[in-house]
Order: sequence, then structure tokens, then C-alpha cells
Amino acid sequence: MKVLVVGNGGREHAIAKKLLESTRIKQVFCVPGNGGTATTNGCQNLSLNIDDFQGMERFVMVNNIGLVIVGPELPLSLGIVDYFQQKKLMVFGPTKAGAQIESSKSWAKELMLEAGIPTPKAAVFTNPEAAKAYVVEQGTPIVIKADGLASGKGVTVATTVKMALSAINTIFRGEFGTDNIRVVVEEYITGQEVSILALTDGITVEPLVPAQDHKAIGEGDKGANTGGMGAYAPAPIVTPELMDRIQTEILEPTLAALQKRKIDYRGVLYAGLMITPEGEPKVLEFNCRFGDPETQAVLSLLETPLEDLLLACCVQRLGDFSDIRWKSGASVCVVLASGGYPGNFQKGKTITGIEEAEAKGAEVFHAGTQLKQQQLVSDGGRVLGVTAVGETLEQAIAKAYEAVDCIQFEGVYCRRDIGRRALADKN
Ligand code: AMP
Repeated sequence: MKVLVVGNGGREHAIAKKLLESTRIKQVFCVPGNGGTATTNGCQNLSLNIDDFQGMERFVMVNNIGLVIVGPELPLSLGIVDYFQQKKLMVFGPTKAGAQIESSKSWAKELMLEAGIPTPKAAVFTNPEAAKAYVVEQGTPIVIKADGLASGKGVTVATTVKMALSAINTIFRGEFGTDNIRVVVEEYITGQEVSILALTDGITVEPLVPAQDHKAIGEGDKGANTGGMGAYAPAPIVTPELMDRIQTEILEPTLAALQKRKIDYRGVLYAGLMITPEGEPKVLEFNCRFGDPETQAVLSLLETPLEDLLLACCVQRLGDFSDIRWKSGASVCVVLASGGYPGNFQKGKTITGIEEAEAKGAEVFHAGTQLKQQQLVSDGGRVLGVTAVGETLEQAIAKAYEAVDCIQFEGVYCRRDIGRRALADKN
């Protein structure tokens, strides 16, 4: 079978490489892909835009592609799945209606409240003055969220009223889109965050191993939020008992609420949870796709062929899998970023040492890289995801950082504490 993967991040490189582990997969095409997918055996980049549905459809028809996998939220929110489904082509991901669970935080909040899913209290406003009055009444800390897609930049955890009001002004100035501007003002809660990536075929929902992302740029979770500086899996804070609760109190009721709205949701349902100090799982957000960099860590542990699971989601046969098989041990993905990220950074820096890193037993997934005149150069904020599997989390961390130290490019930055929190909690 030939597969088309839509996207250009580390997540898509990880998906492509995982698929190619299977003898059933002959070739993976990526739209538009990156320097990693350009240089992986069996993988080829196509110079099409991710919103060029017609261009992709032509390629799929002419080349007899058996499955299209959509990585990022943007094409999902634009209806790529609806488009391919209408053409009777096999495509993995939710429809535009389902993708609202990520593309509109107010829509997702309403769905959760209606279904009784545990989530922080919130109010939605279309009027900035009303939002500001509510903030003053509630006091701080308080969380201000832009309603639409904002690449992780639309959320402000405001510690002062001034900060909250300024975040509301930014949103109503149209910083995150000018159509139908809404703001979600949410109760601030504390705890540990975990990412539950679940597969669903619209009937059953199967969580993958729990992961933890590291969103802040600085060690000890300090500084600005990023797309994610690293991840590890499984996250030990999610005990089997807690996973059972997440399944019955969050994942299943969410799927039921989607069904009630006549949404046939097939794809990844990603719940970004806060585990409160009392051990209660509460939903901070839903995403409608694989997380990045959690996917790099999670798929490294997957033993069941990925294409079998994704195809089963497309044809509503996920219930056939009594169990998804996983490697024992743990995995860690450390993101190497360009100096200055998430602020201004330079691109085009020559990258060396990837082969040496892989010789240490790690796998290097590319994110912001490009092949320029046969030379691999940086091409984004998050450049590489160095991923290692170990019998224990300690071993995985040690192996990942040994590989990280082999890689060089001007200004390279990474957090040195990926996964450490789980070790500290254990001790
Ligand atoms: P979101 O995109 O909604 O997951 O928000 C991005 C980040 O903001 C989360 O990963 C949390 O670190 C933080 N955050 C979001 N909502 C809350 C909340 N209600 N209380 C505390 N922190 C939050």
C-alpha cells in the first residue's frame, strides 16, 4: 500500500517512519514534508500546499494511494476529510464538524458542559467589555483563551488583572483572526498536565499510552510557551485506575456527545488534561489530531502496525483490536530548537551529527529542516526531535541526551530536563 501524509512537522516524520517499518507499506508521500521525509528511504516529498485538496486528490487517484493521513489541525478545520470522503477515498482524521473540538474552544467547552465532562469553569464572550467586567469580578489568576486556532499562542495564564485585560484586547484586536471573535475566560487550576491521544472510529475509543509534553521554553517549565520542547511516554502519573476514569468520564462521554450532535468522528481525539492535586482529571483542551512532540514518543513504543489501527478507524473496525500492543519501557523525545525560539530566530543553519546520534541508538525525527543543495539546514523554530526508547525512563533519558550531544547547528537549544519531573515524582 502507498500512503500520503499531510504535514511537515516532526509528527509527520514519525508517522511516515512508523508506517515504513511495516512490510505492507511500499511508499509514503508527504505534503509538503521536510528535510527528514526527503531523506528517509521509501519516503518522498510533494511540492503541494496542505490546503490544495484538488492537487492531492489528483495525486492520490493517479498513484493509487490507499490511505491519506492528515497531521495538522489546519487542513482538518478546512474540511480536507469531508473533501476526500466525498470522493470515496480512504482518509484518516475527523471531518470539519468534528475538528471544531479544536478549532473552537467555545464550541468544545459547550460540548463538555453539556455532557458533564470535568473541565474548569468558563464563560464565553463576544463583547470585550463584558469579558473585562467578568475578569474584574472573578479576580486572578485567570485564563484567557482566543476561540479559534492560534498555534498554541492564543492562551494567556494571567496573574494580574492588567495582564488579563491586555490579553482580551489583543484577541479583540484580531490578532488570532477577525471573524466572529470570541474569548473564553476560564478558571485557573493547578496540577500536572498529561496528553491522552486516543484513536476512535466513531464507535469505540482507544487511548494510546499517556504522554507528557513540556510546553515552556525554559527548564523547570519557565518562560514562554512553545509548540512543545519534548515529551515522554508513558506518563507514570496516569495509573491504570486513572486511565479507566479518563476512559469512562472523559473519552467515552465526549464521543457520545459528538454522536448526539450527529458528528461521525473518526481519527485522533486528543485530550489535554490537568490532573489536579486531588487526582481529578480535568480537560483543558481537546485537539483533533496527533500531538507534536507526543506522537514521536508514543509511536516509538507502538508495536501494533500503525496502518492497521488507522485503517480500522476509517472503516469503523477499531473494535476488532482487543488490545493495542506496546514495547515495554519508556521513550523520550527531546526537541532541538533554533536559538531565540519561540521569539525571532534564524534559519538556514547547517546541521551535522545526525548519523552519529542515530548510531547511539536514538531516532532523529525532523521538524523544521530542509534539504538545500544536498545539505541539511534548519528551517523552523523546532528543528529536530531526538527520540530514544529505554527499558526504564532513566535509560531512555540518558540515551536521548547522549544522542542530542552529537548534533550541532549554530544556536542550537534544548531543555535538559525532559522527563525529569516523572523521575522526581517517583523519588
Ligand atoms: P490549551 O491550549 O487550552 O491547552 O492551553 C495552553 C496551556 O495553558 C495549557 O497547556 C496549560 O499549561 C495552560 N492552561 C490552559 N488552561 C488552563 C487552566 N484553566 N488553568 C491553568 N492553566 C491552564
